Amino acid sequence: MESNNKNFITDIIDQDLENKTYQKIITRFPPEPNGYLHIGHAKSICLNFGIAEKYSGQFNLRFDDTNPIKEEIEYIEAIKRDVAWLGADWGNNLFFASDYFDQLYQFALILIKKGKAYVCDLSAEQIREYRGSLTEPGKNSPYRDRTVDENLELFEQMKKGNYPDGSKVLRAKIDMSSPNINMRDPVMYRILTEKHPRTGDKWCIYPTYDFTHGQSDSIERISHSLCDLQFEDHRPLYNWFIEQLEIFPSRQIEFARLNLTYTVLSKRKLRELVEKKYVNGWDDPRMPTISGLRRRGFTSSSINAFCKRIGVAKRDSVVDYALLEHSLREELNLTAPRVMAVLNPVKVIIDNYPQGKVEMMEAVNNPEDLNCGTREIPFSRELYIEREDFKQDPPRKYFRLSPGREVRLKHAYYITCQQVVKDPDSGQIVELICTYDPASKGGTTADNRKVKGTLHWVSVEHGVNAEIRVYNWLFKTAHPGKNTGNILDDVNENSLEILKNCKVEPSLSSSNRGERYQFLRKGYFCVDYDSSPDKLIFNKIVSLKDTWLKIKNK
Ligand code: ATP
Ligand code: MG
Repeated sequence: MESNNKNFITDIIDQDLENKTYQKIITRFPPEPNGYLHIGHAKSICLNFGIAEKYSGQFNLRFDDTNPIKEEIEYIEAIKRDVAWLGADWGNNLFFASDYFDQLYQFALILIKKGKAYVCDLSAEQIREYRGSLTEPGKNSPYRDRTVDENLELFEQMKKGNYPDGSKVLRAKIDMSSPNINMRDPVMYRILTEKHPRTGDKWCIYPTYDFTHGQSDSIERISHSLCDLQFEDHRPLYNWFIEQLEIFPSRQIEFARLNLTYTVLSKRKLRELVEKKYVNGWDDPRMPTISGLRRRGFTSSSINAFCKRIGVAKRDSVVDYALLEHSLREELNLTAPRVMAVLNPVKVIIDNYPQGKVEMMEAVNNPEDLNCGTREIPFSRELYIEREDFKQDPPRKYFRLSPGREVRLKHAYYITCQQVVKDPDSGQIVELICTYDPASKGGTTADNRKVKGTLHWVSVEHGVNAEIRVYNWLFKTAHPGKNTGNILDDVNENSLEILKNCKVEPSLSSSNRGERYQFLRKGYFCVDYDSSPDKLIFNKIVSLKDTWLKIKNK
């Protein structure tokens, strides 16, 4: 995995190493297990892992599992799978914030004993009221001056489960008039009679994210704790805890989150799409989740290349989705075998080709990599071509098949359309009667005649049926939710098109799930997880046209 270019974060690390502030570079990826990872998380994973690798340091995977209500084991397993797939190897360094609950409880006792934390009986709503706003200072809680002994006793009773949920909290005693609202006596512990996926019923008080995150970094001796900008205002609080507790001082550095056009990168919003069934699960190929991109056919190397390309910055920006596709296309162009598939077939009969004859046509598997060799494709009298590759009344600059027009069939012969057969009731074209030039095998003729169109085809007798799923943007607008504030208003109802009557060349009958191909002239496709030899299913990954290059060169 590469993320080794220099950036403002590596500049800070270089300084820290030079000043001997830190000896060993340890980074972490700290997901909350409340959903599946998305491409934004990939940016953070590549960054953290890349830095640990660059400095021969250590990379930890730590679950920040402080909220027992929203978390599930399913998410933990999915996250591990995705991080591993991206190539970020955490070795033995898998941790859970919930493993630190005892230690965090001891930290809380230290703060109480120092007179730096107190039990508060205000309700959540009152706490919010007392907190003030950006323009108004907060007010002290009436419980702020409880004695150390009283606080120790009340906190003990909280832990024993002697108070109902929400009736008391433990708060840090900092400064209710601080210009930084995070410093206005933030909550450290709340009562929640809730089973935790990993600690079960052991606790009925749980530390807040703010009281957990920084200390977990310290416990793991994380040297550089890389967060998104939303945590910039929390840094003074994390540093305050570290100073009061006199524990290992991890350095937090903030960077801008990844935003992508035509999608949303927030577990909460993605969960809404799953729960309200706008998509078929977290790994729906339309989702920007790692599992969705994987199922669609994205490679982990192309996601890494993308993350490297976008780099890290301190200011928020929106990256064009086309850049993600460009990174994939660049790779697949070099690696994906070329095959022929007809998505929307119409039959061609080659009138002067002998009945029952079959010729094996040699085809290069990948013109970008001749080491991939060649294969043979059966050619016969009846073929399928793409319905859109024939037009009865061709517009100007239409070089494909039309009455009287000659075109090349890829890897085979030149054919000329002689007659169009239509269904008398519907008027739909059912067959195109053509003739072929037996001397044009392999695409050249005796008189060196040129044709402008080259079509892909599949033999009727030998072709294999397949279902092909074509995806469109999940959202109709580049910035979902921008106008109404509700992303659901911008969902594209036509984001999935299922083509059930496709014909693919016979070599694909032995294709395996997850394999990627270029269907000539049609784009890149991946064998879906649900595919089987009896029923082939492909996902369209991306088209062949690179819209990123167009945007870039504008
Ligand atoms: P979400 O809103 O999607 O739930 P989160 O920040 O709450 O995101 P976490 O599980 O807490 O999700 O994130 C784990 C790590 O991933 C954090 O360090 C966070 O900074 C980082 N991260 C999350 N989203 C992005 C993003 N879009 N770009 C870069 N890093 C991200
Ligand atoms: Mg979060």
